[in-house]
Parts: sequence; structure tokens; C-alpha cells
Amino acid sequence: MATAIVTEPIKLTCGEPSCGKPFIVIAAEATFYEQKKLPLPDHCPACRHRQRMALRSERQLYKRTCDKCKGSMLSVYPSDAPYVVYCHKCFWENIG
Ligand SMILES: [Zn+2]
Ligand SMILES: [Zn+2]
Repeated sequence: MATAIVTEPIKLTCGEPSCGKPFIVIAAEATFYEQKKLPLPDHCPACRHRQRMALRSERQLYKRTCDKCKGSMLSVYPSDAPYVVYCHKCFWENIG
């Protein structure tokens, strides 16, 4: 099977309702999507960037054990992170 090579830039319209801006997928990028059998992006680069940022800012919480009372708690640090993490109760006791 011949490898698909896209030689022309492709004009698309951003699928984000509040944006709707036209954008261009350059030939090299379109070829990449074609060869990987991936759908072409349906959002302009600015919206894709914003979506990535939104995902990254979403804080993940990990279940871990309080380093003082050994009770289970949720923390922004995973249990293998090199931080001493106290639960709320121990935290306030500790700074008191
Ligand atoms: Zn957009
Ligand atoms: Zn504790």
C-alpha cells in the first residue's frame, strides 16, 4: 500500500463554538496524521493549547497515608513523593 503524502496545506475551521476560526494544517502535519491514521485536528492550535493547559491545571489527588497519625488521606503528592505529608488535623496540631 502506498504511503499517503499530503502535499497541500489543509484549511479547516475550529470546532470550538466560541472560536470558529479558520486554521491551516501544514502539509507535513497532515501527512503525519494520514500516516498514523489519525483524524485531523478539529480545533485550531490556540484552542488545542488551551485544552492542554486546562487538563494540566486539573489537580490530581492521591490516596496516601498521613506521616504522623498514619490515617488515610488525600494529597496532591503521590505516596512515593519525597515529602512529609500530614493530614489536616496533624498539620494544624503541628504548626500550633
Ligand atoms: Zn479555536
Ligand atoms: Zn494525621
